[in-house]
Amino acid sequence: MVREDLKEFIKTIPSNVTIVAASKYVGADDVKTLADAGITDIGENRVESFLHKYEELNNYDIKWHFIGHLQRNKAEKVIDKIDFLESLDSLKLAELINTRRLRPLKCFVEVSINLEENKNGVPYFEVESFIKQLLNYKNIDIVGLMMMAISNSDHDSLCEQFKKLRLLRDDIERKLNIKLPYLSMGMSEDYQEAITEGATHIRLGRILFNLLN
Ligand SMILES: *Cc1c(COP(=O)(O)O)cnc(C)c1O
Repeated sequence: MVREDLKEFIKTIPSNVTIVAASKYVGADDVKTLADAGITDIGENRVESFLHKYEELNNYDIKWHFIGHLQRNKAEKVIDKIDFLESLDSLKLAELINTRRLRPLKCFVEVSINLEENKNGVPYFEVESFIKQLLNYKNIDIVGLMMMAISNSDHDSLCEQFKKLRLLRDDIERKLNIKLPYLSMGMSEDYQEAITEGATHIRLGRILFNLLN
């Protein structure tokens, strides 16, 4: 069954922006409901719950995003099952993926825009050299940048944080002469500011799943 509220919500999002459902709060059945409504990009944070949902939804045409911190000792379990890694933030993880993956993996580099707040992510001033080192990895395909804003920021501060990621992307594209088409930024509380500042992917959890209850 497709919920009407969900369909109405989806209509409010510009069609060039991909909704990635952050499914950490819910079980496989709720994810199926979303997929039936047309949200087929699903983001998981944890390896175990990803593997569970991956099994449960094997009849669905899903693009799986891994959006949480991926520990190297667990990475092998997911490397060949996911379509996007949104949280690439270490060279060692990249090396592991590069050797174990059978074909290129689309990756977002997770960026720490607010150095104090974000414990994961590559500090923004190191992202260019980080990406430069990844250019030779044949199974790492960097498609863009991902970030989390500081929660409880006001409207102007959110716009500033998201704009900083967009300008960083533009700068790296120019300097390294590469294309980074995607910006994954914005969650339930701040996706509108993120879209204004150029998000191509918004990662939504609570706002979607509240519509199912
Ligand atoms: C949970 C989560 C989200 C979505 O959070 P909401 O505030 O519930 O929309 C987005 N990105 C990441 C990395 C998350 O862990």
